[in-house]
Amino acid sequence: MKNKNFYIENYGCQMNISDSDIITSILLNNGFFLSKNLEKSDIILLNACSIREKAEFTLKKRLEQLKFLKKKKRIWIGIIGCFSKTIKNFFIHQKIVDFFVKPDSYREIPNFIYSSMEGKQYFSTVKNNETYADISLINSNKQNHNKITTFLSITRGCNNMCTFCIVPFTRGRERSRDPYSIIKECKRLYQNGYKEITLLGQNVDSYVWEEKNEENKPKKPKNIVEFSKLLDLIAQEVPFMRIRFSTSNPHDMSNEVLKVISKHENICKHIHLPVQSGSNKILKLMNRKYTREKYLLLVKQIKDIIPECSISHDIISGFCNENEEDHQDTINLMNEIKYNYGYMFSYSPRPGTYAYRKLKDNVPEHIKKNRLREIIDLQRNHSFYRMQEHLGKIEEVLIEGVSKKNNQYWYGRNTQNLVVVFPKESLNIGDISYVKIIDTTSATLIGKPYK
Ligand code: SF4
Repeated sequence: MKNKNFYIENYGCQMNISDSDIITSILLNNGFFLSKNLEKSDIILLNACSIREKAEFTLKKRLEQLKFLKKKKRIWIGIIGCFSKTIKNFFIHQKIVDFFVKPDSYREIPNFIYSSMEGKQYFSTVKNNETYADISLINSNKQNHNKITTFLSITRGCNNMCTFCIVPFTRGRERSRDPYSIIKECKRLYQNGYKEITLLGQNVDSYVWEEKNEENKPKKPKNIVEFSKLLDLIAQEVPFMRIRFSTSNPHDMSNEVLKVISKHENICKHIHLPVQSGSNKILKLMNRKYTREKYLLLVKQIKDIIPECSISHDIISGFCNENEEDHQDTINLMNEIKYNYGYMFSYSPRPGTYAYRKLKDNVPEHIKKNRLREIIDLQRNHSFYRMQEHLGKIEEVLIEGVSKKNNQYWYGRNTQNLVVVFPKESLNIGDISYVKIIDTTSATLIGKPYK
């Protein structure tokens, strides 16, 4: 078998980066070679994301380009990960894609490649028990030589059924990975030089694992590990590794988790807490299972227990039935919290979701865009306001690389996940530097080394 070079490309979120590392590990262990040159590769894997329309659009555009490459030479193309039926149906007849692999079937990719080389087109189905607990991650991005920060999935799938979201259909039911395999992997990554790990899950706060006996029944006495316990264990086992996690669902976040974050210096003081909307009517239509009041109370608890904690958000503008009053509820909530930063989108229905099937996408496009613009502008003001709180402070920054704008500056992040740039003097990528913040924009803190 000669055709064994594979190239892997990500569309979408952090979860995809972690999945690409899992796939790379599986393929390398099966005698394939990772290539960094798409044109020279035999097998091209596109790790898809169907959460937002934009990622699907970019994937379609990429496949149009690959059509030409496929005409020039024999290559095999696989769409893997989180893809919708629409994408599958769109490409199935065009004969560009040779195989489609869902997130729980990555172990089968080598077989799918061999079969497609024999001229068969393959599709995997959704399974509900895979956690890839025994796979050691291998960095899939050959260009990323820094190897300082990485991602590790602790849960897969989601049980929440938010009405706008495709994840429960593409990634299946939620399951949690064995905590001891997570700790082992964290230690291995630390020994390999990683300095920061982000624990990933669609909803990390609902992580729960129970030890079972040989008959797959709960052990007696019971051994149950919830997210707060997992965080506590990891923080103790890799005390010099920075730990982050994402994403938290406000419905599931507990005070125990907040206390563990506050207890350990190596757990970063940042929580990504998607609110999606500030209106109770819209939250109910989205099936988000919390109210605006409960969300605000949670934010207060975060600030009480971890005063220095930064908070970021996801907000969707123009969801079904959103009127001006609902939009103003979102604006007021943002004004009350003044988030550090956020990810903002206008609503686009995703085929297969409850909202797509049952609710009317009835907010005109220009209104969605205007509301989104208002939200983005407000967030920029709030980000600048929050950044100014850092002026004059001495911050601990993990150096991740050289600043793209000025190669005389280091680029890194502080515990609040805010970008800090400062003049290179000594030190190296992967070192912790103490930096005095002397200036700021709405997106970047500017500092000087503190001696
Ligand atoms: S919590 Fe909601 S938005 Fe997040 S992945 Fe699950 S269903 Fe989707």
